[in-house]
Amino acid sequence: MLFKITVLGEGGVGKTALTVQFTMASFVETYDPTIEDCYRKQWTVDDQPCLLEVLDTAGQEEYTALRDQWIRDGEGFLVVYSVCSRDTFERVEQIVKRVRRVKEEAATMGGAYGSYPYSPQSPQSPLGVRAHGPIPIVIIGNKRDMQHLRDVQPEEGANLARRLGCEFYETSAKHGYNVENAFKTAVRGIKVA
Ligand code: GDP
Ligand code: MG
Repeated sequence: MLFKITVLGEGGVGKTALTVQFTMASFVETYDPTIEDCYRKQWTVDDQPCLLEVLDTAGQEEYTALRDQWIRDGEGFLVVYSVCSRDTFERVEQIVKRVRRVKEEAATMGGAYGSYPYSPQSPQSPLGVRAHGPIPIVIIGNKRDMQHLRDVQPEEGANLARRLGCEFYETSAKHGYNVENAFKTAVRGIKVA
């Protein structure tokens, strides 16, 4: 079964580092902030084999048509901020709301988007309702290992997630801490969505 996860968040928060840590079990110290790529990983969640397609996005200072297409293409979302940067934390709510709005629009339009792979009519959708369920969004406070530079407390992330109805993890892409848990939660969310 194929699961499509889109990783969103401000530049520099660690989207690429998380994606690479998850799919290739290595940490990228320096990485081109403009690189946007799709990574695949064969995985097993709750004894079920699955293929994950992770879209690592880049350059999201503005809401662009391209960005909305990333949202339409994703089934589950990681919205990432850095625990060392309050600015990136403050962007999370806006991104979560944008994801919901774009997904709701796509669901309402049904199969109007030719390339939208999981419209309610799509034969690939086993339940036929994927676009209508709660959208699985996991909020991630990354760079947890950089305690000396922490600018956002864990409770603040947890409270925001609760208020927005999202799951929440603090992660370290550097040490791999909670990285699999975050992706696993997104996959489980897609399964029940
Ligand atoms: P992106 O723009 O969101 O894709 O951010 P990157 O993944 O390129 O990360 C930006 C910088 O932060 C890079 O230098 C990474 O090595 C670093 N970084 C990412 N995640 C972590 C982390 O969990 N801990 C630490 N210490 N550094 C990180
Ligand atoms: Mg990147």
